[in-house]
This record gives sequence, structure tokens and C-alpha cells, in this order.
Amino acid sequence: MRPCPAGAWRYGVRVTIQPPADPIEALERFLARIAPYDDPAAEPVATVDLRVGRLRGSFRLTDRSARALSEALGRWTDPDDVGRCGGCGGPVDRDLVCRSCGRLDGIFGATVAHHAERVAGHPD
Ligand SMILES: [Zn+2]
Repeated sequence: MRPCPAGAWRYGVRVTIQPPADPIEALERFLARIAPYDDPAAEPVATVDLRVGRLRGSFRLTDRSARALSEALGRWTDPDDVGRCGGCGGPVDRDLVCRSCGRLDGIFGATVAHHAERVAGHPD
């Protein structure tokens, strides 16, 4: 089966396929975006080398661009990170279930668990 291009229709259903992650291209775009604000005479203070398969990228960072990259990485939040379990501190998944102890967590999770207990206590 041929790969379906992003945003294509297949069997009457719109299919959206994420392009493969390309950290080299992403870093190139990031550095191009912040370059207008950097001092053109600034000396590089760090080098970031990336290899993706056969591709290689080597990026010389000024102090400003190194700080920008550090800050960008520090601000990133994993979309699967929805918090920590109030019981054991383990990671909670998107269904608000703790991956460590199985507790249903969060305000919504506690409400669902309370409702499930009430429903279980009332036979129809
Ligand atoms: Zn837990």
C-alpha cells in the first residue's frame, strides 16, 4: 500500500499523517527565526551536532542562540504529560490514570471515580 500524503482522503475518510520528525530541519528553522535578533558579530560559544540517519547538521550557536535553544527546550511540555498522581507521584496518562498505581487522578478523574462508586452502589 502506498503511503498516504498528509491531508489526503482514503476510503472516504480524511487521513492526516504527521511528517517524520526532522530535528536538523527543525533546528535550522529555529535558528533562522531567531537570527534577526542576534548580534551578527557575536562569536560562537557552542556547537550542536545532529545526526539523523545519513544526514548530519552542525550548528554553531552564539551565546544568545544557545540561551534561546536552552529556553525553548526547557519550556517544552510533552503532550502526554498531564500531571502527576496525587497518591504516589507517578505520571498520569491522558485518561487521567496513574501509570504507577492505576489510580484515576485529577478533579475530573476523582469525579468520575466518585460517580462510578455511586452507580456501583445502586443496583438497577
Ligand atoms: Zn499513582
